[in-house]
Amino acid sequence: MDLTTPVSELTRVGKTASKILESLGIKNIKDLLHYFPFRYEDYRAIVDISQLRDGELVTICGQVELIANKRSFKTKRVITEALVSDKTGSVRVVWFNQPFILKSIKSGDRVYLSGKVKVDMLGAQLVSPVYEKYKKDTTHTARLVPIYPLIYGLTQKQIRFLISQIIPLADTIADWLPKDIIEAMDLVPLANALRGIHFPVDEHDLQLSTDRLKFNELFLVQIKSELSRQEKAALKAPVIMFQEEEIKKFVASLPFILTKTQKISAWEILQDISKVSPMNRLISGDVGSGKTVVAAMSMYNVFLNGYQSVMMAPTEILAYQHYQSLIRLFSNIPIRIGLLTRSQSQKVHITQSGNGEDAAATKKKIISDIKSGDVDIMVGTHALLSESVNFKNLGLVIVDEQHRFGVEQRKEIKNKAIRSKGKGKSAHFLSMTATPIPRSLALMVYGDLDVSIISELPPGRKKIITKLVEPLSRDKAYGFIRDQVKQGRQVFVVCPLIESDSMAQFPNNNLEKKSVLSEYEKLSKQVFPDLRVQYLHGKLKAKEKEEIMVRFKAGEFDILATTSVIEVGVDVPNASVMMIEGAESFGLAQLHQFRGRVGRSIYQSYCLLFTSSGSEKSLQRLKFFEGENNGFKLAEKDLEIRGPGEVYGTEQSGEMNLRLAKLTDRELIKKARDAAKVIVSDLQKFSSVLQQVRDWEVKTHLE
Ligand code: ADP
Ligand code: MG
Repeated sequence: MDLTTPVSELTRVGKTASKILESLGIKNIKDLLHYFPFRYEDYRAIVDISQLRDGELVTICGQVELIANKRSFKTKRVITEALVSDKTGSVRVVWFNQPFILKSIKSGDRVYLSGKVKVDMLGAQLVSPVYEKYKKDTTHTARLVPIYPLIYGLTQKQIRFLISQIIPLADTIADWLPKDIIEAMDLVPLANALRGIHFPVDEHDLQLSTDRLKFNELFLVQIKSELSRQEKAALKAPVIMFQEEEIKKFVASLPFILTKTQKISAWEILQDISKVSPMNRLISGDVGSGKTVVAAMSMYNVFLNGYQSVMMAPTEILAYQHYQSLIRLFSNIPIRIGLLTRSQSQKVHITQSGNGEDAAATKKKIISDIKSGDVDIMVGTHALLSESVNFKNLGLVIVDEQHRFGVEQRKEIKNKAIRSKGKGKSAHFLSMTATPIPRSLALMVYGDLDVSIISELPPGRKKIITKLVEPLSRDKAYGFIRDQVKQGRQVFVVCPLIESDSMAQFPNNNLEKKSVLSEYEKLSKQVFPDLRVQYLHGKLKAKEKEEIMVRFKAGEFDILATTSVIEVGVDVPNASVMMIEGAESFGLAQLHQFRGRVGRSIYQSYCLLFTSSGSEKSLQRLKFFEGENNGFKLAEKDLEIRGPGEVYGTEQSGEMNLRLAKLTDRELIKKARDAAKVIVSDLQKFSSVLQQVRDWEVKTHLE
């Protein structure tokens, strides 16, 4: 028997069991060794029978006095009853529907039993305990017992039995991690780790074993990013020289002074794009920290060098808003700016928006302008990724709110940056996100990216006051809103759903989830019949959405009932109240984004949360949100509560194929990075590591 032996050849694996294992990708012994427990039951303490207490999880060691099957009158189930004693007393034991126990345990046997104690009128009893005959090295009892993610059709005992058979083979697995790293990082050898994760001697052993296996994963992620970094470094990008004088003039023309971290970020970008290898940088900055203007500076510099830029946004509303802001920012500069979304295209400084031409013709003209170089900056949605869109001399690709694009789309965008330039070349690449990412996490998720962090908000912003409002105080809240409107402010009301019947998709969901359309009815007819209320949601046509946003921005409505379409980017400085219905339906990072729609000017702003959920957990989460204004802290908390999959998209964390390691394993992440740094310059020499990366990639690919 060796690592490549098929699982079907193990003792006591039938055809069915090996089929089940295979369906999980467990084909041979090596695969099975890598099927890890997800928790452990602590059955180490051997308790005297006289000391059994109700409700405790215990192990006893004793002799079977009697054991027999009988059939229950009422339920027709088979009940196995036994009496087990040690020198301090005896205890009744009962199992249900496991008549075969009689085959393995006979009276007179010495056994370990691990399970829960139940005390009734007749004294203590063990109900359905795990049993094992007395021996020195136990598998199922009297130790830290591994509990595996259940495989349908197999019991814990069966899985444990299979793994206990093969665990000695762990010693034959070659440790692929270089010795120096193992030593320097204080790791245990791979074989020890494999033994320790399945059958830990104690907590310390378990900790060391888990750390080693987590380290493996994190280290491979690092190596993989390094390889892709090296690949990218081989590409050539246009050199964009820093046009200091013009950039300074532009900055001086802004109606505000850049914050320190805006300046640093801009400087980092301008440095990067002046090099021949393509920039790959992420700007991470809290909502409202002013990322757009940094992007604009970069695009301006690219324009001054005679290249085109493209800026992509995840929604049409946001694309249109960027288009408008850029036109404003560059009002004194002859930059030709175009907009292209699925349903919309326009361009300034040549043909004024549309100009009565029909839409198809405008679109065609813009696509041809992109190709001939008659537009300098293109703003749009993924419509820009269409085959027909080809740039003449693309210098910079910017993706705003990049976490809102899917993995496939992000790949397409990157490919576009590369394809547009021909073989071996690429445009520079900048992504931006307002879902703040703790630095360690950013390095992990985007290991092959450089990160700039805009860590402060522009001065003068007032702290947004957040309140979780009791259902009974709803009228008071409406009174407050009316008051704000009287003072000239505007209000967002965010609801989780568009229309009530869309709840059909969530059969088990809370029926009280608010929908935009019914909320709009209520607000406009009952609560605020005298105010100007409008609704907005993602299913409206792009033109309608735009028009509503433009009019809201212009102050034509007081209250906008909407969905998460306004989650990212939307900038309406006059709005001072963000009211969120069904707040429990949103993640903390998302709530923070909503909150970021207000407080974008000098007015004191408010975020009012409503929830119909009585769940203690969601209330706690909302309470935390109430007291925390720092997006980074919220993102970390979100990570803790919901895990990276939900916060940053399953694809992003799934991509890395982490099975044990968590993105919150900060210390290990740092260790893995440090270790990777040592060998990256000479990676080709470490063939066992490279082989491991390849195996791992194949595996990820198959899963
Ligand atoms: P985000 O980082 O969320 O994309 P924006 O770029 O939309 O933020 O900027 C938010 C608002 O702050 C905009 O109205 C912008 O004009 C303004 N702004 C940006 N930088 C500064 C600054 N340094 N001082 C004052 N206001 C600024
Ligand atoms: Mg933005």
